[in-house]
Amino acid sequence: MVIFSLLENALDSVETGLMYFRRARESQDRRDYKQCLLNLFQATELLLKAAVSCRGAGAIFKPDSLIKHCTDPQAPTQKELYRCISVNVRDLCKLVKKHYPSAFTSQGLEMVENVAQLRNNLQHFTLEIDPQYLVMQLSSLYRLVFRPAFILLQEGETNDSWNSAFRRQFITLEKQFLEITTYQEYELARCPVCSSWSHFIVYDGESYPVSSHCICCNFKLADLQVWNFQMCPDCGWPSVIYVPEYKAGACLAHTCTYSKEEGFVPMEPCSGCGGYRLEDHCQECDPEE
Ligand SMILES: [Zn+2]
Ligand SMILES: [Zn+2]
Ligand SMILES: [Zn+2]
Repeated sequence: MVIFSLLENALDSVETGLMYFRRARESQDRRDYKQCLLNLFQATELLLKAAVSCRGAGAIFKPDSLIKHCTDPQAPTQKELYRCISVNVRDLCKLVKKHYPSAFTSQGLEMVENVAQLRNNLQHFTLEIDPQYLVMQLSSLYRLVFRPAFILLQEGETNDSWNSAFRRQFITLEKQFLEITTYQEYELARCPVCSSWSHFIVYDGESYPVSSHCICCNFKLADLQVWNFQMCPDCGWPSVIYVPEYKAGACLAHTCTYSKEEGFVPMEPCSGCGGYRLEDHCQECDPEE
């Protein structure tokens, strides 16, 4: 129940923060930047608290506070937790590191503390900060903290019925974020790994996809170069990337049958020419087919 309300409030704050983010980029109004920062910071805190709470309802509360207010600090009741004091941001980051050692990069957790500092400055002084710098910080916060948090909060997806509604929200928020930061230069497709409709293919100003990522299972392709792409046997576009981990290809043309329905393209390195065989056919070695 604690996780549910933390997550619900977190996602409300992400949504409000992104709304102000969009507004601020259009208006360049400091008040919009301020609301954006306040909401996205609150979202950060709540998302991380929700993640840590998955490891135990009492995990985000100060130990001495649990001892003071709970009959059994190891198994606190909901009512007792209302009276307990939760940990500060610094300790929250430590708990995140302890419970999820590989989910967040140290750069991501540093970003949380940076943004906490910005938020404190804002509360005590006026916001004297270059809007461009703030946009950069908040975009990194989203990429380095929100995305991994969304993914790990889907851990219990198969047996938690409330999760799928959240999953739809994660996808919607990701769309909103990309609409603001990439000026809509992205397409959405079905993920070849988890089969959710949550595989974001990002163009970011190029004529070919520069990266792709799934907001549900963490499948991703990064730093793509134009010469990495192979011709797709189904859609005919140079849009297939070989994924060694799955010994198969991913077609990043969002209109292709592979990226809409079928998933991975059967693909393997060709021993004849050093290129690739797709659907058991190599363009170099069997040109006549
Ligand atoms: Zn996926
Ligand atoms: Zn294709
Ligand atoms: Zn070949």
